[in-house]
Amino acid sequence: DTSPAELDALTRQLDRDHVFHSWSAQAGLNPFVVAGGLGSRVWDYDGRSYLDFSSQLVNVNIGHQHPAVVDAITKQAQTLTTVAPATANLTRGEAAKRIVDRAPAGFNKVFFTNGGADANENAIRMARLHTGRDTILSTYRSYHGNTGAAIVATGDWRRIPNQFATGHVHFFGPFAYRSEFWSTSPEQESERALHHLERVIQSEGAGTIAAILLETIPGTAGVLMPPPGYLEGVRALCDRYGIMLIFDEVMCGFGRTGQWFAFQGYDVVPDLITFAKGVNSGYIPTGGVIISDEIAGDFDTNVFPGGLTYSGHPLAMASIVAALDAMEAEGIVTNAARIGTDVLAPGLAALAAKHPIIGEVRGVGVFWALDLVADPETREPVSAAVMGRIKSELLARNLLPFLSDNRVHVVPPCVVTDAEVAEALAIYDEVFGLDLLG
Ligand code: PLP
Repeated sequence: DTSPAELDALTRQLDRDHVFHSWSAQAGLNPFVVAGGLGSRVWDYDGRSYLDFSSQLVNVNIGHQHPAVVDAITKQAQTLTTVAPATANLTRGEAAKRIVDRAPAGFNKVFFTNGGADANENAIRMARLHTGRDTILSTYRSYHGNTGAAIVATGDWRRIPNQFATGHVHFFGPFAYRSEFWSTSPEQESERALHHLERVIQSEGAGTIAAILLETIPGTAGVLMPPPGYLEGVRALCDRYGIMLIFDEVMCGFGRTGQWFAFQGYDVVPDLITFAKGVNSGYIPTGGVIISDEIAGDFDTNVFPGGLTYSGHPLAMASIVAALDAMEAEGIVTNAARIGTDVLAPGLAALAAKHPIIGEVRGVGVFWALDLVADPETREPVSAAVMGRIKSELLARNLLPFLSDNRVHVVPPCVVTDAEVAEALAIYDEVFGLDLLG
């Protein structure tokens, strides 16, 4: 008999008293309360509904409460809720098969983890064992997860207080709008970023480098679309110097770019692929490494020194099987591609043409960022205060946004409809039309 107002108050009270939140000073937090969701919307206890243009943490690719996935989890729970990783389990095999079927030829094995960070952790371990080398190169503009090696491979500020793993070196990836290389075109940015990377490889000593770990399209760092030839050039450098290429597809994989994997938009194949989030839209925590035959072959006779109690957990595996089958049957990845090309690309370009605060629009599929500037000439990022105002104005208009630094990331579920995008574009338009900088 608890009223919605009481449930809301209880949620806030328990959260304030007992829940310790990620990446935050705990005092004064006022988290958004989610009571339920369906498709591209979530709602609070008052029944007020919001367009979820964050996909939570850019992971609910299939939308909230997809009935086939909820059903598969329920059925699996009634059959077998847990099983040791060393057993053979049909649901786990079915999940692994569906994942490798979407990967390029030459990838036939999956190592399951609990999420994205430990996927990167284990990919790094495999690359080190395969090459007999230690160093991992990754970019400053990156996030790879919050565990030992993954947080040190990360480039953004979250690395700094956590630098306890060894063997990590960072470099600058390409970012034409805010170039580190004084370039004036995407082609030049690509060429100069590759030159910089090769000089880093040579300076560290090519023979010491196990892998280059890259988000195929850096996500939290700002949906940084690789300029022409960059990823192909990185592959060529890896081949020249005997370095493994790991693509972190945790955020950009499984439909977000309008393809199963973001790298399928480029002419490049890595040696290891890490995934999590979109593979089952986070309905049950899971992730993993898709392993090339060459690296998997190392462990035919050598022991792989790694494992997790919940590797290939049956509830997670059932949700992967159902999510991938539904995404295929319902054309959900195709929908993400179409929405990107036909609706978001022109819609966001029109917003940028109208509102000078939008310095650049970048993205593909349902994976976009608006880079907001105080001055279009200098490209000075807007302040945190302006971002705070934008967040509250969007929420006041029933849109749940994803904000990072000076950017609004436009990242709805892959199932988003034309009408929902139109609704969101109208809300963004109204908010960017306010006197935000004054
Ligand atoms: N890699 C990328 C590109 C991510 O965006 C994230 C999470 O946001 C991770 C790794 C870490 O995944 P998880 O939080 O599941 O450990």
